[in-house]
Amino acid sequence: MKNIYFKNEIIKKVLEKYKVIWSLHYLNGLAGWDARIYMPKKGIIARGKAHAQASKLIQQFFLDKEFVYLINKASEEKNLNVYEKGVLRILRKDLDQYQKIPIKFTEKWAEITNKGQSIWENAKNNDDFKFFAPILGKIIKMCQEKSEIIGYKSHPYDVHIDDFEHGMTTYDVDMYFNSIKGSLIKTLAYINKSKKYIPKHILSSEIYSKHEMNNLNNSVLDYLGADRDRFRMDISSHPFTQGFGPNDVRITTWYHDKDFASSLTATIHEFGHSLYELESIADFEFTPLSGGNSLSIHESLSRFWENIVARSYGFAKFIHKDLIKLGENYKKYSTSDIYKYLNIVSPGLIRVDADEITYHFHILIRFELEKELIKGKLKVNDLPDAWNTLYKKYLGIKPLNYKDGVLQDIHWSAGLIGYFPTYSIGTALSSIWMDLIEKDIGSINKLVESKSGINKLRNWLQNNIHKYGSMYDFKDMVKKVSKNSFNTTSWKKYLKKKYSTIY
Ligand code: MG
Repeated sequence: MKNIYFKNEIIKKVLEKYKVIWSLHYLNGLAGWDARIYMPKKGIIARGKAHAQASKLIQQFFLDKEFVYLINKASEEKNLNVYEKGVLRILRKDLDQYQKIPIKFTEKWAEITNKGQSIWENAKNNDDFKFFAPILGKIIKMCQEKSEIIGYKSHPYDVHIDDFEHGMTTYDVDMYFNSIKGSLIKTLAYINKSKKYIPKHILSSEIYSKHEMNNLNNSVLDYLGADRDRFRMDISSHPFTQGFGPNDVRITTWYHDKDFASSLTATIHEFGHSLYELESIADFEFTPLSGGNSLSIHESLSRFWENIVARSYGFAKFIHKDLIKLGENYKKYSTSDIYKYLNIVSPGLIRVDADEITYHFHILIRFELEKELIKGKLKVNDLPDAWNTLYKKYLGIKPLNYKDGVLQDIHWSAGLIGYFPTYSIGTALSSIWMDLIEKDIGSINKLVESKSGINKLRNWLQNNIHKYGSMYDFKDMVKKVSKNSFNTTSWKKYLKKKYSTIY
């Protein structure tokens, strides 16, 4: 391998062997993408089996005697560079898990979480929690088993947080929410009392055709500089990004016939994810360092584009020019209408439709419930009641059915427990990036008004964040980029400034 980053002979051997694991991840990813975009519904059982077998193979390759020997030997090396250390950090973490978890468990987990997703989809469509409860019970039980198998210091939920954010604990997330809760409650109360408060903006009722909205999304993507030879966009029931390397990243969006911000901001959010996957150092391809491993870092970038770029006044100006493409009925709106519409704050039931403030309550609620579920204090059958109680407590509203309540998200059915906090933490981190960018290259509001400004912004992100890929864990990456530990000061300042101006 001719590569200036990986020079240590043992690391080179590790990476050579890793290519098999990389390929299986790659093919699993492709099969997962296909399952959500093209596959006929009934293909799910066979796909689940194939996925389970491939996951089993990944674990078997990890446990291959020579591979384990090489990783252990590399861990004893004294002079590894930062790239090599990054490789080792990720592989060590995976290996530690695989050495503890029985292969049978891996296989069963893949099968159950695949089945879970299709059961959830049916349950949600029929608004039937009882149909979903048994499989969710099995998933929670396996999560509890996993906590015991892996081991933890203070909370069984630690194991699941660590799955999505290496090195983070339940305590860290508790501290994080404690530091923002007060500000959130205060800002929301301030907005609710403001004379300018409205629960809904009229622009959210304006209809559009899917065709026109698709054109608008694509002209925005062109403006942001999406490279169509390395990037594509499809439609799915829930927007997501799938990265395969620096030359192939796919995003999806959705269309709802009205409320164009929902489709637009989803597109821009996923575009933010795609850049991180596309722009890590090209020589990282086929290694564990390519793309983003920390979900909070990933989310900080997608939420940066979604909230700080797309909900800025400068961006509303840009959109204004194109809005007429959606139809004559959009002609009557001004830039200021669009800006207000994009930034309306109002408690709602659905997480993905939530504004910048109430969004965090949706996450806090899920975090509190997951903790209790994993600890065994909350039973699956009592989950809908617990859900409703927390919605009443934090947002003052209660769902009237399951699909707008406890059944709304796919995550639990797919075994993604411990994932939600990264959405909120990533959002808070995005304003740290904002402060650094504004100090270095000027106001984002101004930058987003021109194509050259957008290019500057993209270059900054590439050179300061994207290029590192997965070299660092969350804490180290924040330190590396901001020369400081993660904190919520920037974010609280941003909220206060923005919403005291709008309301
Ligand atoms: Mg995201």
